[in-house]
Amino acid sequence: MTSTCIRSIHSPTILLWMVCLAFGAAFPDKLLAKQRSIIIIDAGHGGKDKGSYWGGVRESRIALATAKELEKELRRRGFLTVMTRRTDAFVSLGERVRIANRVPKGIIVSVHYNANTDRSVKGIETYYMSPAGRKLASVMQGTMMEKVRSRNLGVKRKNLKVIRESKHPAILVECGFISNNWERGRANSAWYQKAIAKLMAEGVARYFGY
Ligand SMILES: [Zn+2]
Repeated sequence: MTSTCIRSIHSPTILLWMVCLAFGAAFPDKLLAKQRSIIIIDAGHGGKDKGSYWGGVRESRIALATAKELEKELRRRGFLTVMTRRTDAFVSLGERVRIANRVPKGIIVSVHYNANTDRSVKGIETYYMSPAGRKLASVMQGTMMEKVRSRNLGVKRKNLKVIRESKHPAILVECGFISNNWERGRANSAWYQKAIAKLMAEGVARYFGY
């Protein structure tokens, strides 16, 4: 009984080490890095702050739905996550920074949808502040643009409180323009929220070298 238990516990560990040895023992380091870094997911706006509002679509609602899909996808891939909000509640920018900075090691992905008074404007863009954020932004934007049919508006340095005051590499992703009829229709659908979240999770994985 005891020996069976021990075998069942240790066999996967032994197997893992055999795989690691076969691949030059690179795997444990990456695994540890992945376990230590926490992905802080920041759904933009919420509560009294509804963000942009076009054609009956509230940015705060679809940003939260997309953020929850991102959380699901990252956890499926084995990442640890923290959400700055999980409901339609108002969370101040200062509180979001405090939540993020309580995490010892991690990155921040802030999820938003864009708007412009020129309703023809569409596309996806990613903002950053620090050089570390720029690297994350480049990987994220590049990963998303491989699969999303939209205009690539690139990565931009922007002075935004959450990404400026965070001690971690931080980015803010604008997942599409809800002021544009076509992008709003897509952004308001569950399939797009899931698809863009999957791509963001892939971007996070690539940033960590997977
Ligand atoms: Zn926003």
